[in-house]
Amino acid sequence: MAVEQEMAAIYPPSPEDLAEYLPASDCGKCGYASCEALAAALLRLEAHADQCPELDPEWQTLIAATVALDTSPIPYNIMMEQHPCAVLEINEPDEQSPLLVTANFQDTVAIMARILRETGTKAFLLPTFTHGYSVDNAVHEKMFKAVEVLKAIRENHLEQRLARPLLFIPGLADKEKNSIRQLTRFEVLVGPVSGFLVPLHLLAWRQGLL
Ligand code: SF4
Repeated sequence: MAVEQEMAAIYPPSPEDLAEYLPASDCGKCGYASCEALAAALLRLEAHADQCPELDPEWQTLIAATVALDTSPIPYNIMMEQHPCAVLEINEPDEQSPLLVTANFQDTVAIMARILRETGTKAFLLPTFTHGYSVDNAVHEKMFKAVEVLKAIRENHLEQRLARPLLFIPGLADKEKNSIRQLTRFEVLVGPVSGFLVPLHLLAWRQGLL
């Protein structure tokens, strides 16, 4: 049984959030007064990223794919249906690809997998046991636990599969960063609050911009 809820399980990006990935020079060459104004137009699908001449083609393409994602609210499963804590390999990742940790709420995992697939982002997506809570609820209920992250890493043999012990946690779980780092001994980076911006965040990371 499912009911409609106003909020999607993964927060849609705001213009301010998206503007974080624009050049921030507010030069006006795109026809908008500021980068944030272009970001707002991009999210309304009234502009295209190639209007910003300061962005290289890789960024333009990824921003276009990001704003094309369906961010409409989803039916929220009140039974907190759980996804197995088995790693998902998205777009044939290799040992250099990022490891993304998320909650084991079925809808969260499905949406994150879709975001990564539809933007062509290579990644390992690792659901960790949160009793089926979404990330925000799991953090609130203290169910987003370092020990479960470590368990999922070990059960999926990720220490052997990655070139570097590094993982990303959702922006909503930033308070858990230190406990996860201490227990897993992985470098822990915090992703954006909006899961829809994860592909842009990962591109910034790959290019050494974080
Ligand atoms: S052209 Fe690019 S850098 Fe200049 S205001 Fe527009 S988005 Fe910002």
